[in-house]
Amino acid sequence: MQNIDAIGRAVETKKAPFIALSDRIWDTPEIRYHETAATASQIAALEDQGFRVTRDIAGIPTAFMGEAGSGGPVIAILGELDALAGLSQESGVAEPRPIVKGGNGHGCGHNLLGTASLLAAAVVKDHLAAHGLPGTVRYYGCPAEEGGSGKTFMARAGAFKDVDAVLTWHPWLFNGIMCVRSLANVQAFFRFRGRAAHAAGCPELGRSALDAVELMSVGVQYMREHMPSEARIHSAITQTGGISPNVVQADAAVLYLVRSPEIDDVWTLFERVRRIAGGAAMMTDTTVEVEIDRACSNLLPNTALESAMHANLRRFGPPPFDDADYAFARQIQATLTEADLAFPYKSYGLDRRDPRPLHSAIAEYDGEPWFLPGSTDVGDISWLAPTAQCLTACHAIGTPGHSWQLVAQGKLPLAHKGMVLAAKILAATALDALTDADLLRRAKAEHAERTAARPYRCPIPDDVVAPCHRAAP
Ligand SMILES: [Zn+2]
Repeated sequence: MQNIDAIGRAVETKKAPFIALSDRIWDTPEIRYHETAATASQIAALEDQGFRVTRDIAGIPTAFMGEAGSGGPVIAILGELDALAGLSQESGVAEPRPIVKGGNGHGCGHNLLGTASLLAAAVVKDHLAAHGLPGTVRYYGCPAEEGGSGKTFMARAGAFKDVDAVLTWHPWLFNGIMCVRSLANVQAFFRFRGRAAHAAGCPELGRSALDAVELMSVGVQYMREHMPSEARIHSAITQTGGISPNVVQADAAVLYLVRSPEIDDVWTLFERVRRIAGGAAMMTDTTVEVEIDRACSNLLPNTALESAMHANLRRFGPPPFDDADYAFARQIQATLTEADLAFPYKSYGLDRRDPRPLHSAIAEYDGEPWFLPGSTDVGDISWLAPTAQCLTACHAIGTPGHSWQLVAQGKLPLAHKGMVLAAKILAATALDALTDADLLRRAKAEHAERTAARPYRCPIPDDVVAPCHRAAP
């Protein structure tokens, strides 16, 4: 257990340029695998703090790592930097107001995520040096969490092979531990090829690839009744075959995302989807090619590390929100529906009797994972080393993920307070893992037990290159 006061003071002393860094990343929102300005800013901050920097991890220009200290244990703190398309939004206004129409925006708070993790790593580095302690702290700048499985490609390249424990966090609407069952997933393009022809003059000579995409959709809709209830299948037509209805569409493509709690079940479902695609091709006399785009594994919890993290969260307490923070959060809540507002109380068991619009307590932790019907590429890292994640309140209760409301709050003092708290928790827990051999031993024993029956296999096949090295779909 660390000296919380000293760590808290160290974070407070260092925080100003990191808050500015988070705001700069918010100001320049970049989507998956295009996080070049954010990467340059973060590498500059790492170098400024005296970290040894490794660039281009897994050959990805926006994957990097800063390392400090020497010897073991090796503790990794993960950061994310990517924004989302179509969510451009002014800061601090409680109405939809894009800065750039159709532009990008930080709708998942990754400007805060990467920056708090880097700040925590810097505080740990200083602490190790000041006390002459052995051990290594690393900050990993991870690209493309939003639909790009950046960490999974980094994991496949061996970037985490010598790591003893992993810590990360996510901006959220409450303060607690992210002990969840997330969904593993596989995403793939199905590219159909037919034959173009005049749609009126000689339709009998044409074979429609777009018909195949539509028939595949019908098949998948019928499949939904016969799959596990926690599984999900989504799709987007990425190529329609053109805008001329009088041409039989020769080429069409659809991107399918298949999710289920366990990666093995995802592959079983995916094979069924693949057979449906084959059926659609057969019915339309077209051909189909399947191209895996990316994949990620489900999250494995780690009670030992999560308990240590929760103890630190309790000791630091909730973010110090003030009246101005609550006032703006109320304005945001006024834009939400009753269902939006009720959702977090129902899903996370928050106390509805507390009327404050920003979570100002600490959620209990009992080691029992809750179901998160989404995916994260932190999942793959959690199969390689004991991993724990915390959540801190960085936006109003009820704020939907990936929304303009979330973007509007991401550069305000209320978000900075959540971010600074996350840095404190990460730093304290990293130092726990670095200095408490028993904690690390328990975390590793638990991890070994959880992975004994089925050791990690990277879900992305070896021949699939990262999307940043492929032509756009
Ligand atoms: Zn996110």
